[in-house]
Amino acid sequence: MANPLPPATRPTTAALLCISGHDPSGGAGIQADIETLTAFGQPCVSLISCLTVQDSRGLSSAHCTAPELFEAQADALLADIAISGIKLGALGDARIARITARLIQQLRTAQPDLPVIVDPVLKAGGGGSLSDTALLDCLRNSILPLATLATPNHDELQQLGSVRQLLDAGCQWLLLTQTDSSQGEDISHHLHGPAGEPHSFSVPRLDGHFHGSGCTLAAAIAALAVQGASMPQAVEQALAFTQRCLERARPLGQGQLFPNRSRP
Ligand code: PLP
Repeated sequence: MANPLPPATRPTTAALLCISGHDPSGGAGIQADIETLTAFGQPCVSLISCLTVQDSRGLSSAHCTAPELFEAQADALLADIAISGIKLGALGDARIARITARLIQQLRTAQPDLPVIVDPVLKAGGGGSLSDTALLDCLRNSILPLATLATPNHDELQQLGSVRQLLDAGCQWLLLTQTDSSQGEDISHHLHGPAGEPHSFSVPRLDGHFHGSGCTLAAAIAALAVQGASMPQAVEQALAFTQRCLERARPLGQGQLFPNRSRP
């Protein structure tokens, strides 16, 4: 039986909660989140949704955390550590996603403005699925309506709905990233928000394929959002940070390049 934990009694520093999968190569997933948040001086805590078998060339399988274990870890964390925001990446399966949605709702009862940044990861950067129909339904119906910001690329958006549908369902901001399907010298990203025309951000296209660029971007936005930036400011600064990491990317393996998230 688990030991009962004593109640909290002293003031503490709040941490950003990352929920994502583990990529042993370190390019993407929870390691990408932690490296990014560390670069922003942002304390963080983490829950692992799934373990993956993958390297810089691709993913061969994903194995979800037992839901009871995931929930017990979440309960222990929330009883002890104040949470200033949440960043979601790969969720593994619908059971973990449903627990995650409940967790967000629980935190939002006391903190209605808690920033929740959702990177709706459906497949690995190097190829290989990280989703199924039940997870897609849960993302669409339970997770994205709770998002402060979602960061789908074009492929992901196609599977989740339209920008309008997601905003109407409750997602407050949506950053449509164009890392996958665009051509040309620049890559444009479009931030759709509660009002008005979308903000557009362009960055020079870099040669090469990168492992964990989406995770880096979403984690950087989450750090900046909990540190008080407005959403357009957070996106602009996070894109600049991600670009610097990609310009200095390193070939750790035989496949995709790995963003260099260390301080220059
Ligand atoms: N999360 C996990 C656990 C992954 O393994 C991957 C890709 O391999 C991703 C997220 C998404 O990575 P990217 O930022 O390259 O889209």
